[in-house]
Amino acid sequence: TARIIDGRERAHRLRAKIKDTVSSFKQDGLGTPGLAVVLVGSDPASEVYVRSKLRATEEAGIQSFSHHFEDTVTQADLLAFVERLNTDPAVHGILVQLPLPAHIDKLAVINAIAPDKDVDGFHLENVGRLATGQPSFIPCTPLGCLMLLREELGDLRGRVATIVGCSNIVGHPMAELLLKNECTVLIAHEYTRDTGALVRQADIVVAAAGVPGLIKADWLKPGACVIDVGINRVAAPEKGLADDGAPKTKLVGDVDFAAALAVADAITPVPGGVGPMTIACLLLNTVDAFCTQAGRAKPACLAA
Ligand code: NAD
Repeated sequence: TARIIDGRERAHRLRAKIKDTVSSFKQDGLGTPGLAVVLVGSDPASEVYVRSKLRATEEAGIQSFSHHFEDTVTQADLLAFVERLNTDPAVHGILVQLPLPAHIDKLAVINAIAPDKDVDGFHLENVGRLATGQPSFIPCTPLGCLMLLREELGDLRGRVATIVGCSNIVGHPMAELLLKNECTVLIAHEYTRDTGALVRQADIVVAAAGVPGLIKADWLKPGACVIDVGINRVAAPEKGLADDGAPKTKLVGDVDFAAALAVADAITPVPGGVGPMTIACLLLNTVDAFCTQAGRAKPACLAA
C-alpha cells in the first residue's frame, strides 16, 4: 500500500525554519518581513484561506497587513491601493486573494503589483521569468508540490510527469517547474480526449482539475508518485445530517484516493497534503522578497 505523504508535517518543519530565520533577522537588526493580504468581497472559501494565511504569517513572526474591501470597490481604487502597498517599505510581499468580482480586471490588478513584491508569482514578469529559466517568484501551490516531490523522489530528471489541469495558478506553472527539473511533461485539460492514456505513462501525477474522483486507480502506473492538488467539497451522507438537515460534507481531492493506495508508491491526502505546503511556501516567498529587497542572499537553510 502506498506511502501517504504527510504535507502537514513537511509544512510544519518548513514553517519552523522560516520562524527561526525571521527571528534571526530581528536579532541582527535587519528588520521584519511584512506581508499584505488584500481580500475583496465575502467569498466564504476566500475568507477561510485568507484567515489561515494571516494566522500562519503571524505565527512565523512575519508582520501581516490585512485589507478587506467591499465587493463594490472600483478597479481604480483597488489599483491605487496596490500602488500604495508597492511603495510601503514595511510591506515586502503583496497577495491579492482571487477570485475578484467580475467588474474588476484580475490581470490588471495582478500586473499592478510590483514584481519584486509579487509573492504569489502571478505577475506577467514572474511568469515570463519562470518560463525562461530566470530567477522568479514561483506560485505557492506548484512550489509546495515540487518540494514534496523532491523530498519523495530526489532527482526528478528524466521522469515522466503528467499534470491534469493547466490553470495559471496551478497546472501551467507546475508544468514549467517540472520541465525546469528535466522531467518529460504531459499536460491534460478538459478537452484532452484520453486523459487516462496520459496518466498511465506517468511516474509523477499532479492532479489539479477540481473534479472529485477524476483520476481512477487503473489510470495509475504501478509505483507512481501522486500529488493531489484538488480540493472539492462533496456530500458525506455517512457523516449524518448537519443542523440544516442537509447531509454533512467533506473535502476530497481529484484522485480516487482509497483505490489509488493499492497502486501508487506514494500519494498526498486531501486534506493534509498540498494545502499546508501552499501556505508554508507563501511565507517562504515573503522571506525571499524581504531578502531581495534588503539586498541579502536568502538563507541557505531555506533553499528549495
Ligand atoms: P481551474 O478551474 O482554474 O482549472 C482547472 C483545470 O483543470 C483547467 O485547466 C481545466 O481544463 C482542467 N480540467 C477540468 N476538468 C477536467 C477534466 N475532466 N479532465 C482533465 N482536465 C480537466 O482550477 P485551479 O485553480 O487550477 O484549481 C484546481 C483544483 O486545485 C481545485 O480543486 C482547487 O480548489 C485546487 N487548488 C488547491 C490548492 C491547494 O493549496 N491545495 C491551491 C489552488 C487550487
